[in-house]
Amino acid sequence: MIGKGILKGMVETARNLTGSFHDPDRLTTVEYPEQKIPAKESARNFPFLIYDGDDWETGLRCVSCQICEKECPPQCIYIEKDKEKKPDFLGKMQMQPKIFDIDVSVCMGCQICVEVCPFESIRMDNDFEYAGSDRFKSLLLTKDQLAKSNNYYHSIHPTEAQETDEIRVQKRKDHLAKEKAKAEKLAKAKKEAASKAALSKAEKAKEE
Ligand code: SF4
Ligand code: SF4
Repeated sequence: MIGKGILKGMVETARNLTGSFHDPDRLTTVEYPEQKIPAKESARNFPFLIYDGDDWETGLRCVSCQICEKECPPQCIYIEKDKEKKPDFLGKMQMQPKIFDIDVSVCMGCQICVEVCPFESIRMDNDFEYAGSDRFKSLLLTKDQLAKSNNYYHSIHPTEAQETDEIRVQKRKDHLAKEKAKAEKLAKAKKEAASKAALSKAEKAKEE
């Protein structure tokens, strides 16, 4: 019966209307922008660049490898390398970006840049308030606007940020183990060369 379905729908609407005054589960709208619904942990919008420590310029993780720029499907990342290098978290001298821009009017939030970055430098933000009156100036985000701290990353995506930190701890451990093995190999080679030299010196002395 058609009337029964309409009646059921009207009852549900009335329940939502009255419930929205006292039941938080039925509050489907808020008075934005004065009120905001906190973003879910999985929410993502546009990318940002992570930095470690307090200084965004020295702490920026990006090494300007340009992989994300090449892989971005709509080509909305623009990078220019700096001539100066700086040490990364392992102490290795690395390139850094002089310019790093993302045109968020073109970005489609696909996250490919995040997936291809080998340095855990770029991650997805959940900020969506980018509205502005100038299409070019307000939507072309520059390096200083894209740089956000690792603490910020932890505040928006705690699980993912924790996993990222663990990857970096592991990388540091692997690097230290490699360096130790290299130093041991070098010391062993030096020791062998010294004993060889001593042996040949002794043989020469015997011949004389
Ligand atoms: S999220 Fe996708 S479209 Fe946006 S910058 Fe990254 S790769 Fe490009
Ligand atoms: S964000 Fe990552 S992939 Fe992109 S240039 Fe920097 S280090 Fe390379």
